[in-house]
Amino acid sequence: MQATRLVDFHCHLDLYPNHAELVGECDRDEIFTLAVTTTPLAWEVNQRLAAKTKYVRAALGLHPQLVKDRADELTNWRQLLANARYVGEVGLDAGPQFYRSFDLQKDVFKTILTDCAHSGGKILTVHSVRAVKVVLDMIEAYLPRSRGAVVLHWFTGTRAEAERAVKLGCYFSINLKMLQSDRHRLMVQALPSERLLTETDGPFVEIDGRRAQPQDILTTVNELARARALHSTELAEIVLHNLNTLTAN
Ligand code: MN
Repeated sequence: MQATRLVDFHCHLDLYPNHAELVGECDRDEIFTLAVTTTPLAWEVNQRLAAKTKYVRAALGLHPQLVKDRADELTNWRQLLANARYVGEVGLDAGPQFYRSFDLQKDVFKTILTDCAHSGGKILTVHSVRAVKVVLDMIEAYLPRSRGAVVLHWFTGTRAEAERAVKLGCYFSINLKMLQSDRHRLMVQALPSERLLTETDGPFVEIDGRRAQPQDILTTVNELARARALHSTELAEIVLHNLNTLTAN
């Protein structure tokens, strides 16, 4: 077992029936977990449960896949932002099911980035399915590096796009699915180690045939270590160090 404490920087804890129990388990097992939300209406219960813990934090989200039906909840999101250090899941999704709302998603994401820049000190976990270029363009335009930090979640851009994201200051939270694709694993192997974090993205990723939860993050750590030719403990220490750097300011 790992001596170093592990990091699950993107998990939808509130989508499991035993949400409160999972929060308690993350704390007991000393897994630093970012509980992301898909709608701002879900944030307060996440925040309340996380507030009692050392290891769990709640992120204020408005998922791009929900924007087509829930864009009006941006008002709720904006009202809650002052109380949230972490923001997500936010971003853009230009996949076939969501492309029709893409212009609306861009409007929402622009407001989110602008508000975060205005507040300062926020840490965002950002979705960029089939929209990497636009996501990076918008981060560059609306959230200067001095005004907030971006973690690209389940990033599947090219190596050139990854290099651009690195120059913009972005971190990357890596999940098991990314490492199971040859193309994405090659991109991950080229990322600078000081920008690496790990995530389960449970319940949207399965590990061993069931929905991943933070306790499964060790599988991701082991696979990422293998891809980077490191021992798991070394990799876990790098990730923990990166988390400390990210959250230091
Ligand atoms: Mn997610």
